Amino acid sequence: MTVVESLTPRHGLRVLITAGANGIGLAIAKAFQEAGARVHVCDIDTQALASLPEGISHTVADVSKEEDVDRLFQDVVSLGGLDVVVNNAGIAGPTAGIDEIDNDAWTRTIDINLNGQYRVAHRATPLLKESQGLLINLASVAGRLGFAYRTPYAASKWAVVGLTKSLAIELGPEGVRVNAILPGIVRGPRIEKVIEDRAVKRGLSYAEMEQENLSKISMRRMVEPSDIASMALFLSAPGGSNVSGQALSVCANVESL
Ligand code: NAD
Repeated sequence: MTVVESLTPRHGLRVLITAGANGIGLAIAKAFQEAGARVHVCDIDTQALASLPEGISHTVADVSKEEDVDRLFQDVVSLGGLDVVVNNAGIAGPTAGIDEIDNDAWTRTIDINLNGQYRVAHRATPLLKESQGLLINLASVAGRLGFAYRTPYAASKWAVVGLTKSLAIELGPEGVRVNAILPGIVRGPRIEKVIEDRAVKRGLSYAEMEQENLSKISMRRMVEPSDIASMALFLSAPGGSNVSGQALSVCANVESL
């Protein structure tokens, strides 16, 4: 196999992606399908699930619910195993000072962003041990930088990096790799809402807030969902087979938040 050949994942990989009906998860799902993988996704957005590209199977499942994750893994049996699991589900959580945050909003952020990844990793690990597979956890640049007024989000994403590094050590001897991808500001509706909320909080216009965000990125630009999908494919390809335990930023170098 040449180096260039080693950059393409093996045909027929069995891939599970949580929250795969929109945004980054959907971009990853489409990329794996294009690479010849058998892809299963879960999501809570039934409408978006119904319009997934043909060939991508799905389960309506909320990663914050034990019974939904159980049902997801019952459905996944039809793939006959799992080679790659992408823990992608995550919410932005509230934008508020620590003394103003609503308790339920804090708990919900941790329950989806961190506990959701645990629930999926807990069930996926026996399958990944069997295939000597790969777990990819979506963190964020907010998992390597402090993020004022977004403490539940940042705390959950730093925790995802801790989960990733610990699991890589725990599962490496059994041939399972675990990595985190840390996206920067990814173009799309989610980030528009984040900028909007932060602008209100700071008393700025949307354009001023966006400009301030871009000024903290070395490349002065957002990244695309496809940039995150490219990293997921690289990690899944033979060329990525010695990358484990890493927190990989794909962010055009976000310097601060
Ligand atoms: P998004 O807000 O576009 O949502 C993606 C999907 O998540 C939606 O289809 C939604 O229905 C689903 N979802 C929400 N809650 C769910 C739950 N409890 N169970 C199952 N599905 C659920 O998200 P995105 O921007 O594509 O982000 C994907 C991941 O990347 C998240 O973990 C996010 O924290 C991370 N991330 C995103 C950005 C960004 O700029 N968009 C930056 C850094 C990290």
